[in-house]
Amino acid sequence: MTEATIEIAGAGPAGLTAAISLAKAGRDVIVHEAYKEVGYRFGNTYQDFQGLENWTTEQDILELFEQQGITTDFATLACYRGTAFDYKQRQYDISSKKPLFYMLERGPGPRTLDTALLKQAQSLGVEIRFNSRLKTLSGQGIMAGGPKAADAISAGYHFATEMEDGYWVICDDNLAPKGYAYLLIMDGMGTVKSCMFDDFKQEKKYVERTVAAFEELVGLKMIEPKSHAGIGNFYIPDTACNQQYRMVGEQAGFQDTLWGFGMRLVMSSGLLAAQSLLTGESYDQLWRQQLKPQMDASVVNRCIFSLLGNKGYGWFLRKQSQGDARHSLRKEYQHSLMKKVLHPWAKRYYLSRRAQ
Ligand SMILES: Cc1cc2nc3c(=O)[nH]c(=O)nc-3n(C[C@H](O)[C@H](O)[C@H](O)COP(=O)(O)OP(=O)(O)OC[C@H]3O[C@@H](n4cnc5c(N)ncnc54)[C@H](O)[C@@H]3O)c2cc1C
Repeated sequence: MTEATIEIAGAGPAGLTAAISLAKAGRDVIVHEAYKEVGYRFGNTYQDFQGLENWTTEQDILELFEQQGITTDFATLACYRGTAFDYKQRQYDISSKKPLFYMLERGPGPRTLDTALLKQAQSLGVEIRFNSRLKTLSGQGIMAGGPKAADAISAGYHFATEMEDGYWVICDDNLAPKGYAYLLIMDGMGTVKSCMFDDFKQEKKYVERTVAAFEELVGLKMIEPKSHAGIGNFYIPDTACNQQYRMVGEQAGFQDTLWGFGMRLVMSSGLLAAQSLLTGESYDQLWRQQLKPQMDASVVNRCIFSLLGNKGYGWFLRKQSQGDARHSLRKEYQHSLMKKVLHPWAKRYYLSRRAQ
């Protein structure tokens, strides 16, 4: 008996991770990608830098990828030390013994995560059909089309620069309402963004203020800046399955509701969807066991963070700067007893725009 080809809609990290896992198990896989190349939503004008968080597990994320059979053949900058500021421009040094996160590139370029995943999938025999936007899947398959609604937006510039590598963050509602402004520099290129969770209509004003603040605080100098913006969707569904397909990544709403560090979660969901197709286990059960506790905690964290406001962000940053930030963030992201108790309140308080 031959096993049917599995179709996947979307060649983002979630879809490609699922494809890699299925192809490794010997299945025929076709991935449909709506655009002409991978990473298009991050690279249609330029590349983008993002942080692959390394704090939710003690085990290093790149080691974990290797164990899971996912390529690590993309450019990274291990980030051990950075600087944060509050609204009064007070400075906090954020440091950790092991990398807090890995800076990496997104988009269609040669060094990006997207291209590395694409190459690995192709080397395993996965067929990628570009310019193919799927509305439905014909057989059992995986929907991995990315976000459906904007719960947060991240807007700013990607640029060339002579600045040293590093990362800087500012928590100030005047720059990024209920979010944070960030500056990432790697190998002569940089990304500066306002990641806002509210008041999207004034996006332009917040981006201008963010650039001005980094110019003043750390001497930001952009060469040939190209503007770039994207959305994030944070939603915990009741089910991520319909009769035919499994939804993975942001298509399902899987994200880090606190700050939008969704890459790890979306790739994990791709692995779990592949596992369920291969073994017949329930995908809903798998993601509820392995991903939902962290996502529930992140909803509580989002509600608390939103309520902190400018004065509270200073307190939060001080706390992170007082020890190993990797340990302290791991604690914040855990589904502790306190988070469990607060979750019913947080669920009522936080409403994804997808559910409205
Ligand atoms: C500006 C910005 C900064 C971010 N920074 C970080 C960060 O620092 N750290 C972090 O962890 N996360 C970050 N994120 C979030 C992270 O990028 C996403 O969580 C992740 O890319 C989601 O992966 P995905 O595979 O679910 O979806 P996507 O990456 O959106 O990929 C979906 C793919 O599916 C394609 N597609 C859509 N519909 C169809 C269809 N019907 N048929 C075929 N193809 C389709 C799309 O073209 C796209 O290529 C950021 C997001 C943005 C916007």
